[in-house]
Amino acid sequence: MITAYIGVGSNQGNPRAQVMQALAELAELPATRLAARSPLYGSAPLDAPGQPDFVNAVAAVDTELSAAQLLEALQAIESRHGRERAYRNAPRTLDLDLLLYGEAAFASPVLTLPHPRMHERAFVLRPLLDLDPRAEVPGRGSARELLLACAAQSVERID
Ligand code: AMP
Repeated sequence: MITAYIGVGSNQGNPRAQVMQALAELAELPATRLAARSPLYGSAPLDAPGQPDFVNAVAAVDTELSAAQLLEALQAIESRHGRERAYRNAPRTLDLDLLLYGEAAFASPVLTLPHPRMHERAFVLRPLLDLDPRAEVPGRGSARELLLACAAQSVERID
């Protein structure tokens, strides 16, 4: 059994409802238990000024799925939410990122762990710290210290 952390984000089509629905779907994954979910946060889009704000959360799951199986399951949930990827950083109905899978650290053509940008995103680090105040990002350091370096990013609790 591995503990994995999943980043959930949406800025289209009732983002709060999309995120809550995605959390419910994570709870239904095979061989997986939803252990905890963070509060919801609102964040300004980082690389796409002018887009609507995001609703973000992080979920902790205990799973017997492999990292590759878990990523596939996340992508299946994303497509059920009708995510269309018209262009890079286009608004998205639902984005699910596999942030951490135990202490795994590797890069394959389809999966990089830890998630390659999580260490520089306050909307990931803040909710991750709610779930585990001592969280470490393998190869990058403590989530708490990493968050300090993201002070310029706007992220605020909305529930
Ligand atoms: P994005 O548009 O940011 O959701 O990126 C999705 C793409 O990133 C997919 O092609 C995935 O195969 C790839 N990817 C690599 N590592 C990860 C990860 N840790 N979590 C989610 N997607 C990943």
